[in-house]
Amino acid sequence: MRARVPEFRLGNVLATSFTGTLTERRGNPVERIPTPQRLIDWLAVNGLAVESCTAAQLELARELRESIHAAATAAALQEPLPAPAIQVINDRSAQGRAAAVLTPEGDRQWRLSSASCVEDALSVIAADAISIIAGERDGKLALCASPTCQAAFFDTSQSRTRRWCDMNTCGNRHKKARFIANQRKNSSPA
Ligand SMILES: [Zn+2]
Repeated sequence: MRARVPEFRLGNVLATSFTGTLTERRGNPVERIPTPQRLIDWLAVNGLAVESCTAAQLELARELRESIHAAATAAALQEPLPAPAIQVINDRSAQGRAAAVLTPEGDRQWRLSSASCVEDALSVIAADAISIIAGERDGKLALCASPTCQAAFFDTSQSRTRRWCDMNTCGNRHKKARFIANQRKNSSPA
């Protein structure tokens, strides 16, 4: 029997899609990059294809992920950013040699220095995190309203009132729970 691997949650912000590879942090956490191969898969769907990944590189990736999560959470709460998280994000950002390149179609892509350079890919993610935490981009960091999630996400809605990291999962679960609660209320004897 083939082991079931958790699906990815794909948002349109690279850094918070990356932190979304660990979900339900306040409940029963789901690790969505449990193996180097799954990190390779995740990077591929996010335009950062690498050919190989070692266990040590996966560790680096997870360390960066948790650092971005910690810094983004502090930023969302308007608290001071944790120094160790800043250190990791800056180290990863500085140690990559990815180049932004323009395709003939006018799209931006990333070119890594070698096909196995996970560090280059991580530097792109770290730089993306820096741009949202520094408030350079149009949007606002917020925390998911689901008590078992509380993921930091980047709200780019016009009103900046998004409550869920992901409408298809946390948002939907809330909607369903409310629906069931209402049904119970309506069916219980007066
Ligand atoms: Zn959530």
